[in-house]
Amino acid sequence: MDFSEEQIRRYARHILLPEVGGVGQARLLAAKVLVIGAGGLGSPLILYLAAAGVGTIGVVDDDRVDLSNLQRQVLHATGRIGMDKPTSAVEAVAGINPEVRVVPHGLRLDAQNALGLVSSYDIVADGSDNFPTRFLVNDACRLAGKPLVSAAVLRFDGQLATFKAPGPCYRCLYPTEPPEDEMLTCAQAGVLGAMAGVMGTLQAVEVIKELLGIGESLSGALLIVDGLATNFRKLRLKPDPACPLCGPAATIHDLSAHRTHAHAGG
Ligand SMILES: [Zn+2]
Repeated sequence: MDFSEEQIRRYARHILLPEVGGVGQARLLAAKVLVIGAGGLGSPLILYLAAAGVGTIGVVDDDRVDLSNLQRQVLHATGRIGMDKPTSAVEAVAGINPEVRVVPHGLRLDAQNALGLVSSYDIVADGSDNFPTRFLVNDACRLAGKPLVSAAVLRFDGQLATFKAPGPCYRCLYPTEPPEDEMLTCAQAGVLGAMAGVMGTLQAVEVIKELLGIGESLSGALLIVDGLATNFRKLRLKPDPACPLCGPAATIHDLSAHRTHAHAGG
């Protein structure tokens, strides 16, 4: 291991862990993680990945920092209202860990750019706020063979799952996009800021576990968190034989079927 004195001090509490050690820390420094959405989930996720020394963090978001974001999006700051979120992420991370490179992707994910973007990273973490983006990210990850750690939060409720072959994918869990009038967003229904913090932080734990290959993967499981009851439930998820990506008669071989332009935010 070729750590500088400063790196040994910065990452000492990781290096002490037998599951991480110098080898694991070096692996984190070499890792590339793509984060979809620098919002309520992406905020703690990006902050912890940066503090952990994940070497390259790609941030996809086409939104700007708004005053109403700051109740939960702890990556951003009052002084950066109006700034595009990936640039705000670059500034926040520079203050925490200057050796981490944040690659800003200030764009909307669509069927044209998703596969190329996902392919240049080791793992993807989705914290977007809408179903079209979630389906698109899922399909791109499956086609590119990249593990996906997916989190969602609304009001006091959260969900977390890891999707990677040969386990189930997001479409095995949600076979169809719900109609638009049934999709509640945090903007419509509200969200407790700290719940986004809990779910985004758990997402960071799972991303780091996948990068290091330690512990029990959340692949094949769905974690359901009820913040009001303080209840954590882990359900088994199986691949759906009728899934157009995982089933024996898989029909999705490229992303051209996606008609909607997906929006990342949260
Ligand atoms: Zn599937």
